[in-house]
Amino acid sequence: MSSPVVVVGGGITGLAAAYDLVQQGRAVVLLESDSRLGGKIDAGPVDGAGLPFDVDMAADGFLARQPEVVGLCHELGLGDQLVAPSGARAYIWFDGALRTIPAPSVLGVPFEVASIEASDLISSAGAADFAARIDKAADPLVGDATVGAVLRPRVGDEVFERLVDPLLGGINAGEADRLSIELGAAQLADAARAGGSLRAALRAQVDAALAAAAGPVFNGLEGGNHKLIDALAAALGDRARTGTAAERLERTAVGWRVWAGGQAIDASRVILATPGWVTAGLIAPYAPEAAAVLAGISYGDAILVTFVIEKTQIANPLQGSGFLVPRSQGLLMTACSWSSSKWAHYDDGTHAILRVSAGRSDDRRWLDMTEAGVVATLRQELVTTIGLDGEPVARVTPWRQSLPQYRPGHLDRCADIDAQLAGDAPGLTVTGAQMRGLGLPACVRQGRAAAQT
Ligand SMILES: Cc1cc2nc3c(=O)[nH]c(=O)nc-3n(C[C@H](O)[C@H](O)[C@H](O)COP(=O)(O)OP(=O)(O)OC[C@H]3O[C@@H](n4cnc5c(N)ncnc54)[C@H](O)[C@@H]3O)c2cc1C
Repeated sequence: MSSPVVVVGGGITGLAAAYDLVQQGRAVVLLESDSRLGGKIDAGPVDGAGLPFDVDMAADGFLARQPEVVGLCHELGLGDQLVAPSGARAYIWFDGALRTIPAPSVLGVPFEVASIEASDLISSAGAADFAARIDKAADPLVGDATVGAVLRPRVGDEVFERLVDPLLGGINAGEADRLSIELGAAQLADAARAGGSLRAALRAQVDAALAAAAGPVFNGLEGGNHKLIDALAAALGDRARTGTAAERLERTAVGWRVWAGGQAIDASRVILATPGWVTAGLIAPYAPEAAAVLAGISYGDAILVTFVIEKTQIANPLQGSGFLVPRSQGLLMTACSWSSSKWAHYDDGTHAILRVSAGRSDDRRWLDMTEAGVVATLRQELVTTIGLDGEPVARVTPWRQSLPQYRPGHLDRCADIDAQLAGDAPGLTVTGAQMRGLGLPACVRQGRAAAQT
């Protein structure tokens, strides 16, 4: 009997790879160093809050217009538990008030002049600047560039800094001025590649989605994203071994040997779905240049504090999904998700559940603070922004080194990694959020693609 495929890393990417291999009838062993599966998808109770359910500690939803997670949910029998967030509006905290995000937009980039002129977020000078740029023909984008380099000239600095950066930079706790547009905002890269007017290209994208009667932009799972991890874990059964860190790889005459916990596991192939620096250490003896590229990928550090308090103790009616905070406002918080308004499954009728994030690649203040200090600062910022009045229960979840920062040319560097492995270490495949996208659909896509090679 041939050796199994060994998948290293039990986050969503590794789980999707292992699940796909099982569907193909292949023998699989999945190794996860932590005591639980799921990696950056996790949930748990908010101690002391009296909620009758667990609350997600990181990802609470996923893009539905990319079909991978929705499709996987259907395969796993979770199709009837797919839910959409409330279609309610989102806000930006700016100059002492919450201001509605202008619509329509594509990935946070508005394209209609009227919506910007009507917005209380953008000054009349900013709106005039936007109007002068958004319809102007531009040369098609060739190759990759930063989101900032492409969009600042086309929407103006004010719209970019107040709207685009909080949304697009915020997704990976980074800076839109340094983010690869090809990987960090593929839809916008497509529009920029078309050349001509950005307004026309984005309008065409929105019209196409409307014509296709596309459903909600985002989905979640009733009860929380961790339900997906539970279902994948059940499908893998004892093929998944937790508390088992892969320590080193050894080449054999017919494949690879993975050393984990002092034991050797022979593998026909190895799929590495671990964070970049872990993967780099494992492959360095066989593919040193690929390892150096992986080791060079930087990560953002984020912290998520879940506050729970009775709704009556917040002045704001929380009608919406939450708000974002541009870096110019100087707050520690980068975003506040009104989870009990956004998701019906988090609304018990009595409590407000607020998931507040902090941390950017260029704002590392929280790393030098105590957890109590972070909670106190964010609580005070909730007093200012939404009129919190009282002492909420708080749960702190730090996510250090959690969000890969994609720089222009990242996808080319991924292709170089693949090429070096194919040449020097056949049978090793590198995948995961640090390669071709950090959203759950991108992770599932990559994991399944790795399983198919
Ligand atoms: C705060 C936060 C909020 C987010 N929100 C969203 C969202 O709303 N929607 C969305 O789509 N995405 C979101 N993301 C992004 C998404 O959750 C992640 O990009 C994705 O879960 C990463 O999956 P992964 O499997 O590639 O990596 P990971 O989840 O990091 O999995 C890697 C696994 O490898 C394991 N490991 C490490 N070393 C070893 C070893 N030596 N041997 C064995 N195992 C090892 C780790 O323990 C880990 O379980 C969010 C991320 C964060 C941090």
